[in-house]
Amino acid sequence: MSAIRIDGKTLSAELREKLKERVNALKARGITPGLAVILVGEDEASKIYVRNKENGCEEIGVKSFSYRLPETATQSELEELIKKLNKDENVNGILVQLPLPNGLDEQKALALIDAKKDVDGFHIENMGKLLIGTEGVVACTPKGAMYMIRSTGIDLSGKHAVVIGRSNIVGKPMSVLLLGANCTVTMCHSRTQNLKEFTKTADILVAAVGKAKFITADMVKPGAVVIDVGINRVDGKVVGDVDYDSVSEVAGYITPVPGGVGKMTITMLLDNTVEAAERYA
Ligand code: NAD
Repeated sequence: MSAIRIDGKTLSAELREKLKERVNALKARGITPGLAVILVGEDEASKIYVRNKENGCEEIGVKSFSYRLPETATQSELEELIKKLNKDENVNGILVQLPLPNGLDEQKALALIDAKKDVDGFHIENMGKLLIGTEGVVACTPKGAMYMIRSTGIDLSGKHAVVIGRSNIVGKPMSVLLLGANCTVTMCHSRTQNLKEFTKTADILVAAVGKAKFITADMVKPGAVVIDVGINRVDGKVVGDVDYDSVSEVAGYITPVPGGVGKMTITMLLDNTVEAAERYA
């Protein structure tokens, strides 16, 4: 069997066309959605992510405001900037690129962002809303991964979903979204014993581990939907957490890396920004 590839590029392109229409509708009302991106320090991977986010804004007509702070920036400098952007009417979304350099308190900075402008969905208010199932901003990566799962058209109710990884930005919100879709959810992590016993029974398998080609064919149930969130750099190449070639012989659906969840993450950031501008309007 050869799995159907869930192509992030194609899904993103379709979604971005719809986003352009929503942006144009806002512009017709005199509102240009704005996203402020704060990058602290010189982390090379972060610079690439930030550039991709800013290019995404340009593509759909969202105005991006770039703020670059030096590695030596203090917590209060960062916090003053966030407070200023909270008040700025041209800014609908504020994004602080993570990780922050050592010495800066991420949680304190994120908590300061106006929850309505928290387009990353990392603010505790939005996380809390997700948990109790009321409307809030959903974190971009799990939102994009969920969109990819739904694109298969499979009825998710009662399916066994296994999420590997329990980070605040991917694993935990992903599990809550799958629970909201009536899946039976198992969360696995670095202390899980006999991981394969869980993954082998997964109808939906989400890998957010950060280990290249960690998921191999023998760990996957035939026909499963396999979502690869991982981004790992090996010999200058970007590879996922899933051994794509072998797993695609077993799975029913699979996302590639690159061109999978990563592409969708940026599209969902744009979606959250446009949604914030629509709420503001
Ligand atoms: P993280 O380091 O915060 O979490 C990794 C998780 O993997 C942990 O919860 C840990 O318990 C688990 N884990 C580690 N070793 C394990 C093992 N042997 N067995 C089972 N579980 C194990 O990472 P994160 O921020 O959640 O990111 C995970 C991966 O996803 C990384 O590769 C990251 O680069 C990528 N990522 C991609 C996107 C995207 O847009 N595609 C966004 C965010 C993160």
